[in-house]
Amino acid sequence: MGNIVAIVGRPNVGKSTLFNRLTKSRKAIVNEVSGTTRDRQYGKVEWCGKEFSVIDTGGWVVNSEDIFEEEINKQVALAIDEADVILFVVDVMTGTTNLDDHVAEILRKSKKPIFLIANKTDTNELQYNAAEFYRLGLGDPWCISAINGFGTGDLLDEVIAKF
Ligand code: GDP
Ligand code: MG
Repeated sequence: MGNIVAIVGRPNVGKSTLFNRLTKSRKAIVNEVSGTTRDRQYGKVEWCGKEFSVIDTGGWVVNSEDIFEEEINKQVALAIDEADVILFVVDVMTGTTNLDDHVAEILRKSKKPIFLIANKTDTNELQYNAAEFYRLGLGDPWCISAINGFGTGDLLDEVIAKF
């Protein structure tokens, strides 16, 4: 299947929006309500003559944080298993939550290349908020806006450099 990039993170951080931007599709369902992507979505991305597959994870209906934690454990384990690169998405507008800490802890133990994605950086000012993500112990946050495209080209340059 070639190079695989998995997008992980808690609900509503913008994983599906990022998937749609990278694949230039509207395949993944984006919704104001958390957890609306039902299944793992697979798409193809072409960047600078390189092709890779991208997986949008996190498609389940969430009623409680407990149920969600079990699901995210499964999805993150699968991503670590099958992906060559992991995009861990967090939200600069809301900051970190316990679930972000939980996912970060699992990812820190993995040997796969991980990009910490500070999504929803729609304005330059919001870049300052990303400083709090250093705490997650996953290196520099990559500020992007999946909605307006800020930073996504630079991110793709770095992602394909890992292949
Ligand atoms: P997911 O649950 O992680 O897949 O998140 P979604 O992609 O479904 O997005 C959840 C909400 O965040 C939707 O209302 C999106 O429009 C919004 N969103 C996603 N990316 C951005 C972004 O870069 N900026 C802003 N302002 N909102 C975003
Ligand atoms: Mg989604």
